[in-house]
Amino acid sequence: MFENLSPPPADSLMEVGRLFRADNREAKIDLGVGTYRNGEGRIEVMAAVKESERRLLETQTGKGYVGPGGDALFCDLLANTLFPELGALAERQMALVQTPGGTGAYRLGLELAALRFPSARLIVGTPTWPNHIPTAERVGLRCVTYRHYDPASGVVDFGALLAAVADARPGDLFLLHGCCHNPTGAVLSPQQWGALAAALLAARVVPIIDLAYAGMASGMTADAQATRQLIEVLPEAIIAISCSKSFGLYSERTGMLAVRATSTASADACRQTAESLARTLWSNPPDHGAAIVRTILSDADLSSAWRAELHAMRKRLAGVRALLAGSGYPGADRIAAQEGLFAMLTLSPMAIEAMREHHAIYMDPSGRINIAGLNDHNIDRFLAAVRTVSVA
Ligand code: PMP
Repeated sequence: MFENLSPPPADSLMEVGRLFRADNREAKIDLGVGTYRNGEGRIEVMAAVKESERRLLETQTGKGYVGPGGDALFCDLLANTLFPELGALAERQMALVQTPGGTGAYRLGLELAALRFPSARLIVGTPTWPNHIPTAERVGLRCVTYRHYDPASGVVDFGALLAAVADARPGDLFLLHGCCHNPTGAVLSPQQWGALAAALLAARVVPIIDLAYAGMASGMTADAQATRQLIEVLPEAIIAISCSKSFGLYSERTGMLAVRATSTASADACRQTAESLARTLWSNPPDHGAAIVRTILSDADLSSAWRAELHAMRKRLAGVRALLAGSGYPGADRIAAQEGLFAMLTLSPMAIEAMREHHAIYMDPSGRINIAGLNDHNIDRFLAAVRTVSVA
């Protein structure tokens, strides 16, 4: 049965990770996979998460199933953190379902959309997270791409973005990164988000907003501002939320699908349908990560401790960004105006290979770097290597 199975090509980032692990050089630098590292280069457990786990260990009495929709209190607390005072939330015009990570939320949102409107297309700006298009295709949605980012200027190609909305058909889905664009870090201004919301409304196109990095740019609530702007204007929207970065819960698979619907009844139908789809995908989401987030967000002291830690992470990222921007590398200055974990270097494929071969510095073949992989101990060596390979 499986004799003729030809595996798809490996995801380039997974391949970078494999090569990094196989490298024995002590001073190797990993700028590949998008996890936050502290100033010592380590992925650490946030202190608020540790404390929350301690409390859970003491109080948890059983490990029963949480149900396909997950933990309703976790969902409400997370939604209230991201979308405080949002009318749609207060009026229950939003369906909330706990999912395994942001990936699960994205998949479930697409499944829901495809079930309702199988001929919808997903409009995707490139470059984007390598999982966006394959996941949509797996669900049976046709993807249409447009150029989201202008590598020459390092900013969003807003003209191409609006043209893609104008070309869309009513009922199509339009993928947007709510903040901290992966891989480019390029931002839209509040005015541009406003114009985009108006264009989507006029075209009757439904945004699917990937909110995977809230807290990494300006703050947990602040980073959901663009999403709020969209869902205040648009009658329907799908939002895929990840807690992986915001709480450092990568391995716990914690996320939430939020669907903004036109009425309470429609939101309820969305929730019930999403739950029945989840039942066929993973049955029940994993509990532990959501229980951690629920414990943090329902306790004022733990919440402020977590926010302070998130603030320190942002401050560190902003410091690295400033050092990169001031490095003199061609085009580096734009990095200061971008946000989140990533930036695109304009290095040739040969230069990227030389970074790996001669300097033990690993990054995606596209030139994307995870700036959290840089710190006081390795940034000078990184900048020197960039200078060397750029002139070679
Ligand atoms: N969207 C984007 C843009 C991402 O970069 C990621 C994770 N790298 C995800 C979604 C998925 O996050 P999770 O690990 O929570 O599934």
